[in-house]
Amino acid sequence: MSTHTETTVLPAATREIQLASRPHGRPVPENFRSAETALPELQDGQVLVRNLFISVDPYMRGRMNDVKSYSAPFALDIAMEGGAVGEVIASRSPDRKVGDAVVHSLGWREYAVLDAGATSPARTDLAPASAFLGALGMTGLTAYAGLLKVADFKAGDAVFVSGAAGAVGSLVGQIAKAMGASRVIGSAGSPEKVARLLELGFDAAFNYHDGPVVDQLSAAAGEAGIDVYFDNVGGEHLEAALSVLNVGGRVAMCGAIAQYNSTEPATAPRNLMLAIGKQLTLKGFLVGGYWQHMSEFVQTMSGWIADGTVSYDETIVDGLENAPQAFMDLLDGANTGKMLVRL
Ligand code: NDP
Repeated sequence: MSTHTETTVLPAATREIQLASRPHGRPVPENFRSAETALPELQDGQVLVRNLFISVDPYMRGRMNDVKSYSAPFALDIAMEGGAVGEVIASRSPDRKVGDAVVHSLGWREYAVLDAGATSPARTDLAPASAFLGALGMTGLTAYAGLLKVADFKAGDAVFVSGAAGAVGSLVGQIAKAMGASRVIGSAGSPEKVARLLELGFDAAFNYHDGPVVDQLSAAAGEAGIDVYFDNVGGEHLEAALSVLNVGGRVAMCGAIAQYNSTEPATAPRNLMLAIGKQLTLKGFLVGGYWQHMSEFVQTMSGWIADGTVSYDETIVDGLENAPQAFMDLLDGANTGKMLVRL
């Protein structure tokens, strides 16, 4: 086993956040528990990672429910899982050495023991480690693949993205601009977020709390309408986009955060029939199906970040014990850009 120095003392246990109970509607602090558990002994082929940042993501809300979905439910009374980036502090694998920065899926804890093959290198020569949970990681790939591969974006398209000041949405808008969109419109939940979108180069942005989405979107789109809708929200936003989309328009169905905490069936969209006359394409997708584009994406995105074409925001909360609150705040819109917990 390689370690930092001869005298490095490796941890025998880790603090972690466990799912204590399943939420009904909005999660509450009582759904989470902080606990300390022993770390397993490192086996051949494994690494011990000290997590530096953990990711809290909207999809985790679905995993808190005990229902069959694309991603297995979190089990009760053990650590939750999720994206993390950390530093290898001990290794029994020839593929990872002490000091390597790696991305993996054992978040919600301070230390993780896992197979080296379940980690991927974080290219910290390109950007700080935290970026590999956001703009250069799963989040960024979601924006890139969703826009280019799912919505089949073409230069000249007018694009609308909801959740536009969030991690995925803010990148969607900037990628669309970088690739020649005729117009990019974003919606978000506060005047500060709307102002930030205009700074990021969106042509128009509105606060969806200010009035019906369909009215605000129609005004922002004007006669030209929209060709692509990148949907992070569902519900009223999707209904509005269906109304404003041009003939032949495309919708990348990425998320439906307006419904994640709902205990009642959705009441919108009520106008799905428009998809027939307008010959729309609505395509749902999971980023996991586009992982083969990761290296092309990192290459392109790191270039855009380096030359200032794309900026990314992070909202950072300190301390593992604050991770549940950070997650609850994410669902309430407290973040601009990627919500991260720094350990
Ligand atoms: P964000 O950074 O966008 O954070 C979530 C945001 O959602 C909040 O900041 C809040 O912003 C907004 N929000 C919360 N409730 C509502 C509501 N009722 N109506 C409108 N907006 C709301 O998260 P991500 O960028 O990580 O994820 C964005 C979307 O993409 C989510 O739906 C997520 O599930 C989805 N996703 C899908 C993936 C896939 O593979 N299909 C992969 C990754 C993400 P505001 O203040 O503007 O309300």
